[in-house]
Amino acid sequence: MHGSDSSFFTLLPSLPASINVQIKGHPKPTMSTVTTTVTSAEASGLTTTETATIATPAPAAKKVAIPWPVATDVVKGSCVCGKITWKAKKEGVMAVLFCYCKDCQEAHGANCIEAALCGYAAVEWTGEEHIEAFNRHQHEGRAEGGTCNNRRFCGTCKCHIASDLPGFEAYAFFTPSIDEGSFGPPHFHILTKEKPAHHVIGEDGLPIWLGFPPSFGGTDACVREADPVLAPHLA
Ligand SMILES: [Zn+2]
Ligand SMILES: [Zn+2]
Repeated sequence: MHGSDSSFFTLLPSLPASINVQIKGHPKPTMSTVTTTVTSAEASGLTTTETATIATPAPAAKKVAIPWPVATDVVKGSCVCGKITWKAKKEGVMAVLFCYCKDCQEAHGANCIEAALCGYAAVEWTGEEHIEAFNRHQHEGRAEGGTCNNRRFCGTCKCHIASDLPGFEAYAFFTPSIDEGSFGPPHFHILTKEKPAHHVIGEDGLPIWLGFPPSFGGTDACVREADPVLAPHLA
């Protein structure tokens, strides 16, 4: 192709009429070499700009702290119909956790639950006469697995409010039962050895324990340590 061919300058409008380029280590291109390159790019459907974009690596995502809630001095909750209410003081809170035990899964119809453990002395109930309890260990054929868990329901609306855990002298309040206040950020995932295989735990920076953490008498391994960036309250 001759350098004065008008179709060549239509393809490369930014090139000067007289090309004088030499790439280091390569021979000075001739007009025919440049023309061949342009033809190849056109055939592939790629422009010079698109090629550069594909070659640029995506920047790594920056980790930031999750906007965890702040614990309030008092947390209040109730069942759906309102016949039962509870109040828990901050000083009685022992831990906020996600539990994946089979007992919680079946009792709640969920892959996991969020609960806050609060010592008996820091809890007040109203309407306790409306509470109905269930403990799987009292039912033949369902006694295997799960913890000694006295589940507290409302006799009227059947709302599952809390579990009574005599071993810890505490109630585990299920956080969907909260009406006012917050127990603050959760501390860990527990009993994940019973977790459904298809359930994926999110990147929330919380430790993942196969059983209970040692502070609650556990001996099973921790399979993910706390992340001080995502969960600074654990640092
Ligand atoms: Zn109720
Ligand atoms: Zn559980």
